[in-house]
Amino acid sequence: MYNIKAKKKYGQNFLKDETVVEQIVQSIPNTKNALVEIGPGLGDLTKKLLKVKGVVAFEVDVDLYEILTKNFQDEIDNSKLKLINRDVLEGWDKNLIDTNYDLVANLPYYIATKIISRAFRDSNCKNILVMIQREVAVKFCANVNQKEFSTLSVLAQSVGEAEIVFDIPPEAFYPPPKVTSSILKISKSELSYDEDFEKFLRVCFIQPRKKLSKNLSTKYSKDIVFEILENLNLETLRPHQVTTPMYHQLYKILKGRIDGEFKSEKRG
Ligand code: SAM
Repeated sequence: MYNIKAKKKYGQNFLKDETVVEQIVQSIPNTKNALVEIGPGLGDLTKKLLKVKGVVAFEVDVDLYEILTKNFQDEIDNSKLKLINRDVLEGWDKNLIDTNYDLVANLPYYIATKIISRAFRDSNCKNILVMIQREVAVKFCANVNQKEFSTLSVLAQSVGEAEIVFDIPPEAFYPPPKVTSSILKISKSELSYDEDFEKFLRVCFIQPRKKLSKNLSTKYSKDIVFEILENLNLETLRPHQVTTPMYHQLYKILKGRIDGEFKSEKRG
């Protein structure tokens, strides 16, 4: 069907089911924001997105970039499509583009969580509608006390609301991935954390079935950790039993007490 060989190293699974592409487009939030696509691939989704509004697209693969440049010459000439040949994570320091945007993409799975957590911290990114593997999408949407509640759930709840819109079977792709995929929608309403908070959460959930106190003590002073957790009545809890607002409170108090440790961690 295609005479291009999909590159595994770039997580290339092309969406060939037109109905699914159409369903994604139907789920795009109705806003005045620009559209950003990461990994346009062969351009099937891009073509449909361009019917809605202008698109800025980042594609790392130079072969695909050349194909896209030919296929979308008119749209590029009349500035409807801005195509950028770049690894999207490189140089994404603060904002990916200068205006408010909604991110719509069938993401490369090997860096999907990195891209989403980067988009969380990008204040210009207002909404996210992405295809990722179902198992990870479930983590973004989990609630406190569910076993899937994890770093990704706390981050998602810190910026807004996450939901799975629908699932897509492997057969919808060429080549088919080994896993079921989901369309994940995240409506951002606020930005309430910095990069250190993310690092702190990774420590909290380092061993998800152990107690939070044990996990935090692997990185921060045991005495301080126990004192703070006792004051907050969290000393017996496991990481998935602590709510998102409580994680923010805990982080603020811990950071105040052991700021030096955060700083030395950064230098390292
Ligand atoms: N959007 C296409 C579709 O739905 O058929 C392709 C999706 S495919 C799962 C992921 C795409 O992301 C590929 O085109 C791949 O080359 C591109 N990609 C992988 N890593 C990337 C990166 N770091 N920056 C930008 N694009 C990347």
